[in-house]
Amino acid sequence: FAPWDDPTETPLIQFKGVTKRFGDFVAIDNLTQDIYAREFFALLGPSGCGKTTMMRMLAGFEAPSEGQILIAGTDMAHVPPNLRAVNMMFQSYALFPHLSVWDNIAFGLKRERHTKDAVSARVEEMLKLTRLEKFAKRKPHQISGGQRQRVALARSLAKAPKLLLLDEPLGALDKKLRQDTQFELMDIQEKTGTTFVIVTHDQEEAMTVASRVAVMDEGRIMQVSTPAQIYEAPNSVYVADFIGDVNIIEGTASPSVNGYEVRWAEGHAPLVAKASQVLREGQRISLAIRPEKVSISAEKPENSVNAIEGKIIDIAYLGNLSTYHVEVAGGIMVKAQTANTRRLSRRELTWEDKVWLNWTDTAAVVLEQ
Ligand code: ATP
Repeated sequence: FAPWDDPTETPLIQFKGVTKRFGDFVAIDNLTQDIYAREFFALLGPSGCGKTTMMRMLAGFEAPSEGQILIAGTDMAHVPPNLRAVNMMFQSYALFPHLSVWDNIAFGLKRERHTKDAVSARVEEMLKLTRLEKFAKRKPHQISGGQRQRVALARSLAKAPKLLLLDEPLGALDKKLRQDTQFELMDIQEKTGTTFVIVTHDQEEAMTVASRVAVMDEGRIMQVSTPAQIYEAPNSVYVADFIGDVNIIEGTASPSVNGYEVRWAEGHAPLVAKASQVLREGQRISLAIRPEKVSISAEKPENSVNAIEGKIIDIAYLGNLSTYHVEVAGGIMVKAQTANTRRLSRRELTWEDKVWLNWTDTAAVVLEQ
């Protein structure tokens, strides 16, 4: 059982019907959501959807206009930020420039009543965890951006919060360093057992690090699931489109022996799809098909339930993969992505080529409109 599927597990965080208004503007709209201990939970969504507002309410910098937030079963309504077992790490890291790495990490601990030895031991432990032992004496301007990010993390974890909130923690790092740091972050999260809630607008990052991802839109959570579920079984066109690349083909469904037939373009054979839900005859639906599930070939494939003809308009070569943009009936663009493992031995498809696209009856997710 994952904790979110285990009915005996009590959530660490509970949002219960939480609404947050700024004047007339509804930033968070009647949101109910549980987050469990040791989860790495990602909030993902476009700018302005309410991610930071959710974090600020957890940290206690904002109060809900309606509803309740519970942490470890206690209503946080009258609990100030400093009395919550919550820490927040900001994108700017907010390190003290005049203090060494060691003193930056020790800063919060020194303000609490610990012995000198206890502070030292904890700082050493944090330096080890974040692999910063060698840099303890340096000032923030004498280390790299990635190292500064680790100092900020070490400092946020020094007081052993139950919950660490990370607002775009890797936003300042370049792509390669960012990817390496994602794995470090996962490793540190696992070692400390702290619950991490991360805000990011980078969907690849959310998918990489998180145990569960919440996709948000306009103050609401549209879907919460594991990265694989979100990708393979999005519950709406919005989520399908937000996570990764997807082809959307609209049509009208009719039940058939093989699942559903979907009429999508005048004068063209219907597409065939399996659906997890029951659809009415004539219901308008969208098919969501990931580009890597669409095969492309010069000749018409045999025995394919979904084969449509088109013309290559564009090719994006990505090294390991190529994405073909193919125009099919009705001017619809469909992307097909193929691995380039045998690229040199294969006859190359090129612009303006007439091609066939095909996919299996289980490749498309059927979404109601
Ligand atoms: P981003 O990815 O750009 O940081 P976000 O998803 O974190 O966006 P929030 O910062 O949570 O978005 O803001 C949600 C909405 O609430 C935005 O439309 C924002 O303008 C509004 N908002 C946030 N704080 C305030 C405030 N103090 N007063 C008025 N409106 C606010």
